Amino acid sequence: MSSRSARSSVLRGVFLFGLLWTVAAPAATLIHAGRLIDGVDNEALPERTIVIEGERITAVERGYREPGPDDDLIDLGAHTVLPGLMDMHTHVSSEQRQGGYIDQFQLSEADYALQAVVNAGKTLMAGFTTIRDLGDIYNVTVALRNAIDAGELPGPRIFTAGTSIATTGGHADPTNGWAPVIRDDPGPRLGVANGPWEGVKAVRQRYKEGADLIKITATGGVLSLAKSGQNPQFMEEEIRAIVEAAEDYGFHVAAHAHGAEGMKRAIRAGVKSIEHGTYMDDEVIALMKEHGTFYVPTISAGRFVGEKAKEEGYFPEIVRPKAAAVGPQIQDTFEKAYRAGVKIVFGTDTGVSPHGENAQEFAWMVEGGMPPMEAIRAATSGAAAFLGIAERVGTVEAGKLADLVAVRGDPLADVAVLEDVSFVMKEGEVFRHE
Ligand SMILES: [Zn+2]
Repeated sequence: MSSRSARSSVLRGVFLFGLLWTVAAPAATLIHAGRLIDGVDNEALPERTIVIEGERITAVERGYREPGPDDDLIDLGAHTVLPGLMDMHTHVSSEQRQGGYIDQFQLSEADYALQAVVNAGKTLMAGFTTIRDLGDIYNVTVALRNAIDAGELPGPRIFTAGTSIATTGGHADPTNGWAPVIRDDPGPRLGVANGPWEGVKAVRQRYKEGADLIKITATGGVLSLAKSGQNPQFMEEEIRAIVEAAEDYGFHVAAHAHGAEGMKRAIRAGVKSIEHGTYMDDEVIALMKEHGTFYVPTISAGRFVGEKAKEEGYFPEIVRPKAAAVGPQIQDTFEKAYRAGVKIVFGTDTGVSPHGENAQEFAWMVEGGMPPMEAIRAATSGAAAFLGIAERVGTVEAGKLADLVAVRGDPLADVAVLEDVSFVMKEGEVFRHE
């Protein structure tokens, strides 16, 4: 379990010819990988040695290198080793459950913070070393990100939107469904913005709070206490103002959208990704290809709410028909978007589905016609490029951070083996090895 020698760079002085001291190579951790999917090559590579010094990969060599006297050896000869997985749509501060609508009135900031710590741990143990979190409460993911980055807590590297931005009554208006006596107007500070200037203010508020990017809800949503799951909820002019303000801070904008009209407005206004994309039509697909917009499918959430809609009383009655419709549709949409050549990155909306089960998405993607290697790239090198951090993570190559996972079996033959990760390393530190 320990990776102390990987973390420390021990310099050894060697007396040479009685004349001079030279410095030998620092102790390394060697991983013998039975099979390596490096995130670049189209094939799995047999028998490789991954050399790790400190937090970085310093070499990937053919065959099994013998460890030196001070090196650590991790034998993953019976495993397939891959880059750390990346989920581009999570909500680690909460988890959907029956009757969970009451939580917002009963839980404190501390409760949500502790939930987020637990969920982040589950996410890392499931092999996800980087996530993009698309909407939290009380900005807990900002504090969580900072604590994880400081090495104080185990968890994935987090890129967070902080509080989602919605319009009045829109999906992510935090007061939806509340009684009039407590249903105040939240305003941009709490993520409700109407008109371009309030949109700008909401973006700047996220900057002030320490977010990394912006999430908007461009259409209705399944789980909010509102009738429509797909009506457009922002004017194009409003989204354009949000995108422009976001660019000033180096933020990209992720747009939750189920209905086609809201997607079209968001794409034309310049958002980076469409989340869910449930009722995507041919015109939306053409626009996404024209603008280079990414699609984050979240099939896991669609399947999960579709199943739960069948259970009497799991969802409030206003939510139930929306949930029942979205499940089957999102799988078909993925298939259509993939065939049409839309750029796809891996994202699950975990928090709707249970934390730690993020890798189930791979099987749904493969069911939708995507080859396993492409699905893996969508969660590794593709996601890293999408986030603009491809020089640091996403592949197993010299110079990259040592974010690695391993599974028994061959994910190219059965992608579901990714649901059972037996080894997790993040930045050279081993968090799971069984
Ligand atoms: Zn979401």
